[in-house]
Amino acid sequence: MERKDWLLQYGSLKEGLHHFDYHLDNDFFDSFEQDLVLNGHVNVLLNVYRSENYLQLDFKIEGTLGKECDVCLSELDYPIKGEASLHVKISDKEIEDEPDLIQVPTAEIELDLRQHLFDYTLLQLPMRIECKDSVNRKECDAELLSKLNQPEDDEKPANEDHPEWQKLKGIFKN
Ligand SMILES: [Zn+2]
Repeated sequence: MERKDWLLQYGSLKEGLHHFDYHLDNDFFDSFEQDLVLNGHVNVLLNVYRSENYLQLDFKIEGTLGKECDVCLSELDYPIKGEASLHVKISDKEIEDEPDLIQVPTAEIELDLRQHLFDYTLLQLPMRIECKDSVNRKECDAELLSKLNQPEDDEKPANEDHPEWQKLKGIFKN
């Protein structure tokens, strides 16, 4: 069943394995104050293993994220596919913080997965994104590239701090 909200109601889950489907669309990514991705269409299959005082959440993540090419600044759809796990200890005793391990008090019955879904999805992106690796473009935009590589003022090379460069980037974004 496809989930419409991001709350995992684990309080009502029987011990054992449970499956959930999530679809992260443009509305989902727009709901975060972020400029890491332009948009996205991502399916997440979540397996939850519940025991009395413990939950293991295994996320299988697959889809595309909209990004700007790091070379020519074209907008592209980058394919992602990966996995992540989150361990949840249900306890009122303080535990030490560990990566991918969180603690919830015994009085809680639900867990908001919204931020986790966002973080785990973004973690699937590599450091560098190029047109040749995208699903909608084969190669970088030659016209944009030649503009980017040609400084407007011959004496000063274009760089990130140059005001002309900032202006140029603004134009490409529109
Ligand atoms: Zn490109």
